[in-house]
Amino acid sequence: MLRIRHRCSECGMPLERGDGYYLGPLCINYGTVVFTFVLPVLIAGVTAWVPLKIALATAFIGALLLPLLLYRLSWSCWLMIYYLCLPDELHANRSENCDDLSFEEEKRSQ
Ligand SMILES: [Zn+2]
Repeated sequence: MLRIRHRCSECGMPLERGDGYYLGPLCINYGTVVFTFVLPVLIAGVTAWVPLKIALATAFIGALLLPLLLYRLSWSCWLMIYYLCLPDELHANRSENCDDLSFEEEKRSQ
């Protein structure tokens, strides 16, 4: 559940791109859990729509479990956003058969 493939099983495109690449899914996961679950539940507790103790317990349990459940989905969303913004990095759009990021290659050639 908490593992992702390093490469696409169909085309071999690298999915895990090295240091810091996990920060994208982490931000998506954190933002989704906080803004769609924890914050609304806490607001419901503070405004007395739900008893505060129940709201706190629900927010705590959700803050522990939802990131685990959303882990793979957040990786999918991150890859979708990444390749939407950098379509030239897609394996099929590369002219050469290379796994390096093209902006790293530009840096090396200078
Ligand atoms: Zn693929």
